[in-house]
Amino acid sequence: MDDSCMPSCPLCDKVFHYQALSAGELVWEFGHSIAFLGPWQYYPGYCIVVARKHITELFEISSAERSALMDEVAEMAEAIHQIVKPRKINYEWLGNQVPHMHWHLFPRQENDPNKLKAVWVELEDIESNPEKKARMEFCERGRDKLIQRLRGCLNKSN
Ligand SMILES: [Zn+2]
Repeated sequence: MDDSCMPSCPLCDKVFHYQALSAGELVWEFGHSIAFLGPWQYYPGYCIVVARKHITELFEISSAERSALMDEVAEMAEAIHQIVKPRKINYEWLGNQVPHMHWHLFPRQENDPNKLKAVWVELEDIESNPEKKARMEFCERGRDKLIQRLRGCLNKSN
């Protein structure tokens, strides 16, 4: 790990070792962040954009760095939008569990039964409900195929 990492932070660890991840996880290497395909593909195209540095608050970084990070989040969102054509993308960055700056990009479809609620409401009891967990993780398009399509969009814009 380098100086910008926190030893006990799981996202610092993930970013530092991202090249060792499985093919079904890494989506894109941006300059200031890394994009991963998220586990809950009940929301097809769900990705997580993680800052390369351990940043916990937006005001801790320069305006230029903040702007570059937001551009990367927007690029990822645009690629997701082109592939899965959601009704709306939810951008979630809470940091209550892991304060390291990261955005959950949840594409929400028209047929989402809880479309007015935050995704976390649906995911709340996932660990105690294996059936529901399997349903929420299921990826109809296949993780590798989805990643290839997202990369195709990002390649065109970079
Ligand atoms: Zn961190």
